[in-house]
Order: sequence, then C-alpha cells, then structure tokens
Amino acid sequence: MLHDAHNHLQDDALEPHLPRIAEAWPGVAGASGLMVVNGTHPTDWPRIAALAERHAFVRPAYGIHPWDAGAPRPADWKEQLAAKLDADPRATVGEIGLDRWILEMARPDDPRLAGVRRASMPEQIEIFLEQLLLATSRDRAATIHCLHAYDDLLPLLRHRPLPARGFLLHAFGGPPGLVPELVGLGAYFSFNPSFLDPRKARQRDTFKLIPPDRLLCETDAPAMLPPQAWRTHKLPPSADGSPVNHPGNIEAAYAGLAALRGEDTASLAQRVAENFHRLFSAR
Ligand SMILES: [Zn+2]
Repeated sequence: MLHDAHNHLQDDALEPHLPRIAEAWPGVAGASGLMVVNGTHPTDWPRIAALAERHAFVRPAYGIHPWDAGAPRPADWKEQLAAKLDADPRATVGEIGLDRWILEMARPDDPRLAGVRRASMPEQIEIFLEQLLLATSRDRAATIHCLHAYDDLLPLLRHRPLPARGFLLHAFGGPPGLVPELVGLGAYFSFNPSFLDPRKARQRDTFKLIPPDRLLCETDAPAMLPPQAWRTHKLPPSADGSPVNHPGNIEAAYAGLAALRGEDTASLAQRVAENFHRLFSAR
C-alpha cells in the first residue's frame, strides 16, 4: 500500500491522462493507496475539490505556491482557503513555501517560469505566514516547498505557531545539518525519486539521516521525473514538449528509498503508511 504524499493531479499536463492514471493507481498502490493533491493558486482549488469528490484515493490540499505568490489573487482568498478547509476535514494546506531559486538562480528565460511574476521574499513570506496560520488554527498539516530559502524559513518555523500534528518539507533538499532541529519543530520529509539521479548524492545521504517515523514518499507529478531506469509508468510529453511525470512512479520513490536505507520495501511501506496517516488523516 503506497501513498504519494505530494503531487499535483489537477495540473493541465495530467488532465488528458486522468482516466489512465486513475485506472493504474489502485494497481500501483494496493486497495487504499492515497495521494495528497496540492493546489498552487485559488484558480485550481475547485478542480482539486472535484477530484477529491470523484476519487476515493485523493486527499485535497489547498494553498498558494511561492511561484504563484506574485500572481493576482481574489481579495477574499484567505476566506476561500478557510472555507475549503472547513468544508472537508480531510483537507490540508499546501503547497505553500519560500523560493529564492526563482529570484536569484533561475535563468530569466526558464520555460517553467514563463509568465510568472516572481514575488519578492517579503511578499512570499507574508503569504506563507497567512497560510501557515490557517493550518495551525485548525491543526491541519501544512506542506512546505523550500528552495534555497532555509535561512528565511527557519526563523519563521522557530518563532511562529506551527500545526501541532506537524508539517511536511516536500522533496527535502535542505542542509542535512538542519534535520535534527527540523525534526524537533515537527517536520516530516518526503523523498522524491528524482533524487535517484546519480548527481543527487547529497539528497540521498540526507535521507539516510531522517528518523524512520518522519519519512514519507512523493512524486510531485507532473514535475520531477525519476531517472529513466526507475520509471515504472510513462506518459507522453505535454504539447510544449516538457516531460510529464506519472504518479504511479511513486513505486520508484519507495524502492529507491528502501535501497538507499538498506531496508526491505514492504516494511518501509508499512512505516511510511503510519507516518502518512499520523500527519494527514482527519482527526
Ligand atoms: Zn509540488
């Protein structure tokens, strides 16, 4: 029974393939494998709510992604977010976070950022904190994206109220030295199979250090493809030629993580399922 702790099933790139993915999913994941489907902006929240209604394996998460923090949003977006959380006890907050890569490292012509107005760090922090507060006040999990911004994120996590049940650092690629403090703050860490790329040794080494009760697995589909050799599920590229990841590749996350930690995949999956429910299940 495999759970995908983080993906974007509502994404346009997956839309044409939804029937195929839904059909493959129970086969991939056993009878009750779940996936947390993360919003990026109020415009995709209704699609996530509809997916959660249609598919028993979907757990909805609603949030504004740091890449969308510079886009126009409705004046009542916070009320909309609160309403989505209150309407469904299974709903959590995500994907929220901070990203300095888009501000300082991304190439101006990176196609993934075409049309994106890159919000400044103070703008990103303001929106992040509003969303974190909504998660905390309802004790729902918050799923956090942090790219080259741990110096900004850590002081916020240290000094602001956090969800009592904890939070997820998705595709954790932060400095390994931060792991003990983050664990103390309530962090869970999800392993993305793109870390199986030979060049990602630092991330793999970090995941050997994560305590067993804080591990999760994810795909981030349609983004972050596993290396070719690990792909068990394939989809054609999208219209603009960009590659599309299939959530079924969650198999690679479990197999790869078990191999690098020297564990048996079945017992790892059992433990990850317990972690998944402790963090994400309605109480
Ligand atoms: Zn994501």
